[in-house]
Amino acid sequence: MALFHSLSIRMQSLLEYVLSKRGKKLIKLHNFTYYAASKDGPKTRWRCSTHASCGCNAALYTFHDEIVGQKGVHSHPSITNKQFTKID
Ligand SMILES: [Zn+2]
Repeated sequence: MALFHSLSIRMQSLLEYVLSKRGKKLIKLHNFTYYAASKDGPKTRWRCSTHASCGCNAALYTFHDEIVGQKGVHSHPSITNKQFTKID
């Protein structure tokens, strides 16, 4: 459990909230972006932004804005050169 906790903290420091072109809130992590797919109180499931276009099944889970889980592997390259508006 301690190992998982420290991994989570490390991922947390890399997480950024950004705005998409359409003004939607996205998570940016390791140059991949995720949109909020479903919410259940403080829990949110985030799907890879390319889920609809590329069928990528990678997902993140947050609880009170902290990453608590990660699922799947991206089936496409990261989006290193895209510019997003960062949310503070
Ligand atoms: Zn993906």
